[in-house]
Amino acid sequence: MKRILFLLVTICFITLTIFKVDANNLTFPLIGKTIVIDPGHGGLDQGASYQDIFEAELNLEISIKIKDELEKQGGIVIMTREGNYDLSRPNAIYRKKSDFDNRIKLINNADADLYLSIHLNKYPNASYYGPQIFYVDNYKENKNIAEILQRELNDNLNTKRQIKRIGNAYYMYEKLNVKGVLIECGFLSNTKERTSLLKGEYQKELARIISKGIIKYYS
Ligand SMILES: [Zn+2]
Repeated sequence: MKRILFLLVTICFITLTIFKVDANNLTFPLIGKTIVIDPGHGGLDQGASYQDIFEAELNLEISIKIKDELEKQGGIVIMTREGNYDLSRPNAIYRKKSDFDNRIKLINNADADLYLSIHLNKYPNASYYGPQIFYVDNYKENKNIAEILQRELNDNLNTKRQIKRIGNAYYMYEKLNVKGVLIECGFLSNTKERTSLLKGEYQKELARIISKGIIKYYS
């Protein structure tokens, strides 16, 4: 009798283990989700800089890694740019506005579930560090997405930044008809963080954490 009981418990345990492995590894939690990744700046506008390091380039490198991660999880990813260019109309008088307008159009027409705008921060006080999520509240849900991603980043990177609502300080975000957030992935003004942000391995880690946060939001 004891033997049979032991056998039953063992079978139960094996079944649970297999089920867990299946749930963790063999399913694609982002299947059916379309996510737009918007690497900030590009072309004429290189964003924040430190010596010869430019935000636009790093935004793109990080965005491509987030794209890879999200696709691995079954998501469909649309990028607003895939090279170091901006989206302005040739000969547009207001290049920056034209760039924003075309990004807005692209994101709004993508029939997407979520957008992630990828940026890097810079601040006069070099001691500031850590990724920070910004959101506009044209969708109530945006604050929730921001909180989940911020918690995931803080927990994994041992940082303490807090989400921040942005009003009409940014031309683009309130005009988007898709839920989403702006991720400032770190501070170029902080020596330690800047060194990390230049490394592919750290960029990949950021991408994995962001992807995990998105999965948590949808689960
Ligand atoms: Zn930026």
